[in-house]
Amino acid sequence: MNKIRLATLWLDGCSGCHMSILDMDEKLVEIAQYVDVVYSPYVDTKEFPENVDLTIVEGALSSDHDIELIQKIRQNSKLILALGDCAITGNISAMKNLFGSEAVLERGYFELADENKSEAYPSQIVPKLLDKVLPLHEVVKVDYFLPGCPTPSQAIYEMLKALIEGKEINISDYTRFGK
Ligand code: SF4
Repeated sequence: MNKIRLATLWLDGCSGCHMSILDMDEKLVEIAQYVDVVYSPYVDTKEFPENVDLTIVEGALSSDHDIELIQKIRQNSKLILALGDCAITGNISAMKNLFGSEAVLERGYFELADENKSEAYPSQIVPKLLDKVLPLHEVVKVDYFLPGCPTPSQAIYEMLKALIEGKEINISDYTRFGK
C-alpha cells in the first residue's frame, strides 16, 4: 500500500494546533505507518513539493506571502484540511481586523517601542500584511474543517484514521469551535 503524502503548514496561528498533532503521542507511531511527511515544520523540506495527498493547515491568512503559499499548496494538494479555529474562522489571528493593519503596526513598532522608535514600519523583505486577516476558505477550496482551539489531539487522530481508512466520522463527537 502506498503511503499518503502528508504535509502540514503553519500560517498565522500560535502553533498550538501543531502541538496538538504531536500530542497524539504513541498514536503517531500508528499513523506513521500510513503516511510520509513530505513538508512540515517538523521536517526540513524547504520547498512545497508536488503531488501531496493531504495538507493540514494551521492558522489564518495574514500576508501577501500567505496568499501566494496557500494558492501554491492548493495547486499541489489533492485535499486540504483546515485545522483549528484560526484556519476556519480567523479566530485569535483575526482580532486585529477590529483595528486594521496600520493601527497594529503603529502600536507594535512605534507606541510600544522603548528605543529606535520609527514610523518606518517594515515594508521591505518582510511580507506585506493584508488589510484583513482571512480564513482559508475565503481564498481557496477547503475539503475538511476540524475546529478547536487547539483542536484536540484525539480529534486529529480520529480524522486521520478515517481518511486513511476511507471512512466518514462525525467530528462533533470529538471537537467543536473554541474547545
Ligand atoms: S486555533 Fe487556537 S491553538 Fe490553533 S493556532 Fe489558532 S489560537 Fe493557536
